[in-house]
Amino acid sequence: MSSNVTPMMAQYLEIKAEHPDALLFYRMGDFYELFFDDAIAAAEALDIALTKRGKHLGEDIAMCGVPHHSAEGYFLTLIRKGHRVAVCEQLESPAEAKKRGYKAVVKRGVTRVVTPGTLTEDTLLDARRNNFLAAYATVRDEGALAWVDISTGAFSVLSCDAAGLGPELARLDPKEVLLTEAGEAELRHIVEDAGAAITVLGNAAFDSTNGEKRLSRVYSVGSLEGFGTFSRAEIAAMAAIVEYIEITQKGKLPLLRPPMRETRTSAMQIDASTRRSLELVRGVNGGRAGSLLSVIDRTLTAGGARLLERRLSAPSRDLDQITARQEAVAWSLEHGDIAATVEDRLREVPDLDRALSRLSLDRGGPRDLASVRNTLAQAETISETLPDELPHVLAETAQDLTGQGPLLDLLDAALVADPPMLARDGGFVASGYDAELDEFRSLRDEGRTVIAGLQSRYAEQTGIAALKIKHNNVLGYFVEVTATHSEKMLAAPLSETFIHRQTTANQVRFTTVELSDLETRILNAGGRCLEIEKRLYSSLKDAILEQAAALFNLARGLAEIDLTAGLARLAREENWVRPKLTKGREFVITEGRHPVVEAALAPSGTPFVANDCDLSDESIWLLTGPNMAGKSTYLRQNALIAVLAQMGAFVPAREATIGIVSQIFSRVGASDDLSKGQSTFMVEMVETAAILNQADDRALVILDEIGRGTATYDGLSIAWATLEHLHEVNRCRALFATHYHEMTHLSDKLEAVANATVSVKEWDGDVIFLHEVKRGTADRSYGVQVARLAGLPATVVDRAKVVLEALEQGEREGKQKAIIDDLPLFSATPAPAPQKTAPSEVEARLKEILPDELSPKAALDLIYELRGLV
Ligand code: ADP
Repeated sequence: MSSNVTPMMAQYLEIKAEHPDALLFYRMGDFYELFFDDAIAAAEALDIALTKRGKHLGEDIAMCGVPHHSAEGYFLTLIRKGHRVAVCEQLESPAEAKKRGYKAVVKRGVTRVVTPGTLTEDTLLDARRNNFLAAYATVRDEGALAWVDISTGAFSVLSCDAAGLGPELARLDPKEVLLTEAGEAELRHIVEDAGAAITVLGNAAFDSTNGEKRLSRVYSVGSLEGFGTFSRAEIAAMAAIVEYIEITQKGKLPLLRPPMRETRTSAMQIDASTRRSLELVRGVNGGRAGSLLSVIDRTLTAGGARLLERRLSAPSRDLDQITARQEAVAWSLEHGDIAATVEDRLREVPDLDRALSRLSLDRGGPRDLASVRNTLAQAETISETLPDELPHVLAETAQDLTGQGPLLDLLDAALVADPPMLARDGGFVASGYDAELDEFRSLRDEGRTVIAGLQSRYAEQTGIAALKIKHNNVLGYFVEVTATHSEKMLAAPLSETFIHRQTTANQVRFTTVELSDLETRILNAGGRCLEIEKRLYSSLKDAILEQAAALFNLARGLAEIDLTAGLARLAREENWVRPKLTKGREFVITEGRHPVVEAALAPSGTPFVANDCDLSDESIWLLTGPNMAGKSTYLRQNALIAVLAQMGAFVPAREATIGIVSQIFSRVGASDDLSKGQSTFMVEMVETAAILNQADDRALVILDEIGRGTATYDGLSIAWATLEHLHEVNRCRALFATHYHEMTHLSDKLEAVANATVSVKEWDGDVIFLHEVKRGTADRSYGVQVARLAGLPATVVDRAKVVLEALEQGEREGKQKAIIDDLPLFSATPAPAPQKTAPSEVEARLKEILPDELSPKAALDLIYELRGLV
């Protein structure tokens, strides 16, 4: 290091060298400062001022900084923009550094690396969603995906090949995925499509042999066998996760629950584009609004909400499991009074999972202790409220709620009602819990009263009523009597207690062992209080962490109860029914509804028209009908009912019988999905191919306007052949909406194909949508009328009618081409071309703007500038 580098800069560079890929937040007093390229990148991303601070090797050092108390918000912004943040703290006070030498630099070190998958702060997380970190490993030809939510400790693993990775990532929606270098080369696009950040780790992190040892150490077990049998790839993926948490948390591990091994056959398979198209947990705009989740969520706790999203993302295929869950919901529905009491308690339940995780990472505080106490208190009341006779799922969870009496008593006694956020400032231990603390507190707060008490005791003991305890800066506290009493005081037995300090003209002053003890204690009382509270904090924390496994189970139990009660309330409020699930291939829905569309219509008072569906014998329904009639709504409502049924919920229908669905596929014709850069028709065909290759005879397939993205005859032939394949090869249950009326003839040839249509009425040249699905075919498509409703100019609508009539006549007479050629050209007068004029100053300035490169601040400046030009 060159000699003109300051010691502080030398320290900075050394720490930075260990974290080349992260922005280093270097703590200086009340600020985090960033230097060099980090400063440039952060200033840009955060839109904060970039300044300079001294020189390094003759060059200005770029710098920017943020106050440490508001740093979390900045971390989040940076993470969302794809950065990682290394947080470097001062590990000693400046005073401590001074002791080591006049110019010593304060010791600093990185205490954590903040990445999208490793957040634990409540402020940075959505309480109602899991925040998963995932890792994908391959060992020989086997692949596995492991994932953890370090804010709750939930840890799972699943064998899955590269082809299965996309659907699994779509289900879990992890924020960050760990890959090997080779993995990154092969799978980058899959992970990016799932919207997760990629972090590449060395192959050593994925080593399954060391990994097994590392995992056994983490769980303090001799071997992992107690948790199940894991494949090499599964161990490698889990090991990478543990390694990465150790790197980012600087050796501190959160409490990880024992790994849960999932299998791909246990859940209904739903791939990424089906999830998007059905809008299960996210609406079209990517948020919660408009999703199925948003309308069914009646949970009252964060843990319940997270469990609901997980269940909805992975509906079960296990009839026994589904039935057990349904029974719990039904019980809750029947026992409304008990459920209501339980719900009142649930409202008071804090986020136990996240409190535990913060405590284990040493990032917690007294509020987290209180969260545990409050949860235990509510759990106790809930378990007292529940009767002994319960359906299986609830009986099991009710058991997990008990057994924490001693811990609850401890926390109840130890904590004040509403403790502060930070342990640092004390004030969270209740009085009466620790005698020493109480004493120091009263010394701190009531020093004078204690002295006054001592004074009257001494006055009594000596028989000198005028005895005083006083204080000055030279002697500190002392006992003072007038000179007249000196003889008595200096003789035994009083001299044994009172030690002479000073004699003045009129007074004699003494101290006692007790008084000087008291003095030191008063002086130190404040400091001692903090020390004792700190010690008590750790012992309470340890007492909690000792019970971690049981507490995690308790949290899971509460989440299950919350979820069950929420689904029951949903069923009651929305008038949903318990579906009957079977091992067969039935699919009979009577008066089914689309919960999201129904909810959207509710404010306007428009009733939702319920519709039946029966795919039991005629397993493929070909649905025709004009645009806007309600085809997509109908298709999706049946898929959503299947999803709801298999997650154990009740469903929006009068009656439903469903043979367990193994996979759901939903595809929407190309022009509805414009978000991709690829040719939309190509995407549609790739997705259709996936269905035809994968759907088994228990699948439910929904195809909405397949083939629309290409020329009519191409589209028709593709739709036609697709339907035949579904019928002959896949033999699955399917709903197929199309505007190709020609296809309705297929029902004559294919025995399992039935025609259905969404009915409309024509009145006074307009169409009226009845939204009723009936057996049969649509007589016409009403496209021109719909176009008119959409506000197409009257000239265009009239013209379209003429073209349509001519085409229909031509088709009847078999000479379409000639008819089109005969049609006179479109006759509306074209609008005059705009006159070219020289661009104004404002226009010229606007043309120069590159919006993508403008920061919010620059954009505002620009608005001022433009305003100045007019
Ligand atoms: P299509 O797929 O036939 O073009 P959509 O399913 O998109 O039609 O439905 C168009 C609109 O009609 C929906 O947004 C909704 O407002 C309304 N709608 C659809 N189905 C129903 C129904 N069963 N009851 C009431 N309104 C409905």
